Amino acid sequence: MDEMDQLEYGRRNGGGNGANRIDELSTVPVSQRLLLLPHCLRPTQGCPGKMTRQGLDCDGCTREDCKIFHIRQAALQAGYQNLCIAPGGRLAVRCVAEVRPAAIVAVACDKELEDGVAAVKALEWQGPAPLIIQIPLLRDGCVETDVDVAYVNQVIVGGV
Ligand code: SF4
Repeated sequence: MDEMDQLEYGRRNGGGNGANRIDELSTVPVSQRLLLLPHCLRPTQGCPGKMTRQGLDCDGCTREDCKIFHIRQAALQAGYQNLCIAPGGRLAVRCVAEVRPAAIVAVACDKELEDGVAAVKALEWQGPAPLIIQIPLLRDGCVETDVDVAYVNQVIVGGV
């Protein structure tokens, strides 16, 4: 996706990221980034992931029909150390509070993004609040949701 496509994507999807924010992300070391994914992207049948206090644990899973699998692979290959696959906004915000990242890439439905951004800004930060890149779902609804995996992967590996 080129720069104009990214801007158009942001407008169409209400993410409001734009090329400037993506460029800003590239200045943040991967070790200081947090990737938040919603667990509703997983397949409805037979997901072997275990829900833990840190979110869904996908370690060892090789299901190539799962969007989370492909995004997680890209993030791990890029060196992300902080990744949370959350069943809801409350756990996602708790991850943010524990990790204290300099930048967050958040995939979620519009409502969760809106609430999440407000909750993150309401946390106490010693320096500036983290940069938040919002990537809205293409289809929400709590199960069998969808996202543009190629776009997410392009964003998360930006500047790595
Ligand atoms: S990669 Fe997908 S199918 Fe595998 S455990 Fe994670 S969410 Fe479930």
